[in-house]
Amino acid sequence: MSLSLRATGVLWRMSAPERRAILVLGGTAEAVKLADRLMTEWGDRFDVVTSLAGRTQAPGRMPGEVRVGGFGGVSLMARYMEDRGVCALLDATHPFAAQISENARIACATAGVPRIALVRPLWEHAPNDNWLMQPDLAAVAAVLPGIGKRVFLTVGRTNLSAFASCEDTWFLVRLIDMPDTPLPFPAGQVISGRGPFAVAAEQRLMEEHKIDALVCKASGGEATRAKLVAARRLGIPVLMVERPPAPTGPVADNIGAVVDWFEKQVT
Ligand code: NAP
Repeated sequence: MSLSLRATGVLWRMSAPERRAILVLGGTAEAVKLADRLMTEWGDRFDVVTSLAGRTQAPGRMPGEVRVGGFGGVSLMARYMEDRGVCALLDATHPFAAQISENARIACATAGVPRIALVRPLWEHAPNDNWLMQPDLAAVAAVLPGIGKRVFLTVGRTNLSAFASCEDTWFLVRLIDMPDTPLPFPAGQVISGRGPFAVAAEQRLMEEHKIDALVCKASGGEATRAKLVAARRLGIPVLMVERPPAPTGPVADNIGAVVDWFEKQVT
């Protein structure tokens, strides 16, 4: 909003202060909780905008404002922040969403916007866990046929093609939305589900489908931890993809620390 005044032939342009925005990069349960907390503690002074990639059909309840879809790369993200008056960016994306975190790092540096990343702690390995850590999905697909014949696959829709070569494996695939294209491997079944999941239900699911291996990413977080406990109880091996490196710059492992950081930016 701006106000123009004409005085003695001179045009004076006075900018009225806009209400500034906190930009939360979302797509996770933690981002919803973070936006909720920001609305409660800072909603009277700032707009809280959660940005979603738009991968899921019905993302669920979201506090504050929501914008959906990619920004169109780093420079358009920087421009969005300038146009929207973003005073801080809180990156609460999934640990495997490395591209958007890197884009945010560069865009914030360009636009002079302070940024922090909320990075979930890794899951802790318990004595009876049989975790086989793998550097990437291709490595999992390469060793999987020697480990399991009936596999519970929980890596997300966009990663299924990595298992196209596993022709003799039967997959139980869990996705948030049912896919609209056929599975890229010959044998399997899709179920839809969104965390949090309970241990007993995960155990029952694996028993019912005679699962003999679990494939997942080292995502961390409470919402999807139950499958690891179920696998431990059933003595099932877990092929787990290692995380990409955390974004550089300020990082916190809990929502309270992110909110404290934000307070320091604006007081
Ligand atoms: P990615 O590879 O890091 O990002 C790919 C592109 O998607 C980005 O360059 C950006 O497009 C757009 N994008 C991603 N997250 C966005 C966001 N929050 N707001 C606006 N644009 C976003 O991301 P991904 O691994 O595909 O994950 C997509 C989203 O799903 C993330 O927000 C993440 O939190 C969530 N998620 C991911 C996983 C996973 O395993 N990767 C699991 C659960 C949830 P532009 O370059 O056009 O801006």
